[in-house]
Amino acid sequence: MVLPRCTEPIQAEPALELVRKYNIPGPRYTSYPTAPQFSNAVDREALRQELAADNRDPARPLSLYFHLPFCESLCWYCGCNTVITRRRSSAGEYVDLLCRELAITQSLLNPARPVTQLHFGGGTPTFLPPAEIDRMGRAIHSVFAFAPDAEISVEIDPRRLTREHVEAYRRLGCNRASLGVQDTNPQVQLAIHRWQPLAQTAQAITWLREAGYQSVGVDLIYGLPLQTPESFAGTLEEVIALNPDRLAVFSYAHVPWLKPAQKIFDDRGQLPGTEAKLAMLTTATRALTAAGYVHIGMDHFARPDDELAIAHDEGTLYRNFQGYTTRAGASLYGFGMSSISQTDGSFRQNYKELDEYAAAVNQNELPVERGCLLSEDDRNRRAVIMDIMCRKQVNYADLARRIHLDVPKTYAAEIESLSELETDGLLHRQPGGFDITTLGELFRRVIAMRFDAYLANSRSKGFSKVV
Ligand code: SF4
Repeated sequence: MVLPRCTEPIQAEPALELVRKYNIPGPRYTSYPTAPQFSNAVDREALRQELAADNRDPARPLSLYFHLPFCESLCWYCGCNTVITRRRSSAGEYVDLLCRELAITQSLLNPARPVTQLHFGGGTPTFLPPAEIDRMGRAIHSVFAFAPDAEISVEIDPRRLTREHVEAYRRLGCNRASLGVQDTNPQVQLAIHRWQPLAQTAQAITWLREAGYQSVGVDLIYGLPLQTPESFAGTLEEVIALNPDRLAVFSYAHVPWLKPAQKIFDDRGQLPGTEAKLAMLTTATRALTAAGYVHIGMDHFARPDDELAIAHDEGTLYRNFQGYTTRAGASLYGFGMSSISQTDGSFRQNYKELDEYAAAVNQNELPVERGCLLSEDDRNRRAVIMDIMCRKQVNYADLARRIHLDVPKTYAAEIESLSELETDGLLHRQPGGFDITTLGELFRRVIAMRFDAYLANSRSKGFSKVV
């Protein structure tokens, strides 16, 4: 089934009223159930059985994630799990831990399974010196067999990057990179404690292209202190001129109760309001679609010939902890502190604190702090929610074929609850499913929340707002 592309810009006026109405805290649905449902009391033996079952099929692909947590200084908006340090020897000690974790995991793995995706995130993956990147690469390649067309990507911080870092990740196999930029305006950069001249970003892109990376993406954030719609338009213009293949334009997630460094933004009163944030999002959508990018979903844009854009058209897009991906059907194996792994029926998350993660690995244990075993209802709701997050259309017959479920009958109350969203123009219901409108693209999270069985649970509170 070929689905229509979203290339119409979001109209600011009708959306503003709706943003006021629907700008509520909600999950980003990189997983379902979402991370607050993971529990320390999860049945460890059942998790192990899930892992064994996951490895029975040698053809089931693997998606790997390595969390490299170190950063030299804290960006005040940061929502990641980081370790702030300038001690370079931390990198070597950490690679030692990753090698141990790989060895522990190897004994549980089916070695024939092909790796179709590998991502290095952080933190700052380029905190590792090139020699440590090489050592980590050798360890990974000694454990896993990679598919010839595997997508191997790394998050790049241009500020302390060298050509040697770029080449080391390329030797490891990286063919994609995403650069943290956030905003190019100097005042905004000072306000968020991240000084990054545009020339550094341009230099990083040049090195990546010269080294043969097939795709270079740029990450921006709107809703940061001192940003205005006009200043953000300037950032977009400068970034579009760098000609990235993909752009992610994230809404700043203000969660000072989880990330205390963000309190400084409240104290200084410099955060833009909802109206300004919506104008920035509208500006971004207009500028990027005018520059030829396709709006993939929520916060992602790509060139029309990019595989994400093609997957979006063909309805094969999927969502995982790294955002949108074309590699559906893979089990996710995470390595490093705080990383999350996913099999069809489970999630498990490593210890979030470095010393606890290190203690478990040094005792030859899987460093799992908490996890979640999925019920049949969880799996069914996950299928519906992933369709809402990744497609423009939820098709009941297609879902029945994939998950053997009568969706209209099973989730009649949830579907009935969509009538208010339909009245507000976010979707159109039909007997065979519902279409998400261009306006509704902005509120995918709100639509998905109608199918989330856990939102009444107090542990689900604490999410950022949807816009
Ligand atoms: S570089 Fe990235 S991970 Fe590190 S503090 Fe800044 S935003 Fe957070």
